[in-house]
Amino acid sequence: MLEPDLRLEARPNQVYVALYDTLPHPGLGPVQEFVFDLGISANRPVVLTDVVWRVYDENDHVVFVRQRLGQAAMHELTLGQYGVAPGMGLVIPRCYFLEQGALPLTHVRVSVAGYDYETQAAVSAVLELPLVYHRQRARLRLPMVEGPWWAITSNDWTSMHKADPVSWPFAYDFVRLGPNGLPFAGDGLRNEDHYSFGQTVLAPAAGKVVLVRADMPDQSPGKPLSAEALGDDPRRMAGNVVVIGHGYGEFSYLAHLQAGSVQVTQGQLVKKGQPVAAVGNSGQSPGPHLHYHLQDGPHLFVDRGLPVLWSDFLATGDRVKLATIPSRMIVSPR
Ligand SMILES: [Zn+2]
Repeated sequence: MLEPDLRLEARPNQVYVALYDTLPHPGLGPVQEFVFDLGISANRPVVLTDVVWRVYDENDHVVFVRQRLGQAAMHELTLGQYGVAPGMGLVIPRCYFLEQGALPLTHVRVSVAGYDYETQAAVSAVLELPLVYHRQRARLRLPMVEGPWWAITSNDWTSMHKADPVSWPFAYDFVRLGPNGLPFAGDGLRNEDHYSFGQTVLAPAAGKVVLVRADMPDQSPGKPLSAEALGDDPRRMAGNVVVIGHGYGEFSYLAHLQAGSVQVTQGQLVKKGQPVAAVGNSGQSPGPHLHYHLQDGPHLFVDRGLPVLWSDFLATGDRVKLATIPSRMIVSPR
């Protein structure tokens, strides 16, 4: 009989950490965040009992530990499927860490334990996953003309963006606030009620337009994207998009753009602050807003999302030179 062999892998296999150390995060000092999916496979039927994540700093000290023990916890963690069948494997999605402190982190050690379903033999495996910090080269301005905008998600564990730990874990959804302090006037049931809708979208830095999608209609607020509109391409969730390469492996991804608003073509060079489109509600979008994230390549769901350092904007009544904007902060380009 085969010895049980448990295999672990992570997606992505090297994980960027976002550091929020400049602007105040509500109720906390500096925080760091990262997220990944854990894949577990085995050559024999294995029942999982424990998963432990240990996060290390550069002195090889354990900075924090998270643990799930016992079958009830595994059941919850793996949505009811805590056995690994040969040839199947399972995923523990969205292993998410949002932790206090600014100490540089180096790696996560994931330890998984269980037993062979038939022989009861103990089985375990360890994965060392590197944590990395991106040194951003592009100086990015906020991609709108004037504010205020509510920067939602980023380091928010409830963010739907964490569901894709590869390309958009650090994405922003910018929502324009009106004179009433709300995203819309009236009941908000029409796109035109929303202060975001139709606002000019600017290139956050100079670069080359590497991808344009402009064939998606605007959805009505609150209406999910239909299966026909999504088709067989999950990238259509992002609706109309403009992707700009800034060099050094940094690509700005601007999404949910208004139908008919895209002003640039693939291959075109753009200047920093040049209008490229308008804010819309295309794709899988609950209401008009501007989705922005930075990637290390042009391909959505393939290339990795990067934390974003924004230059020269207004927040908390001050002009901020350079910072990663924490979740739910109200910001303005000028
Ligand atoms: Zn978004």
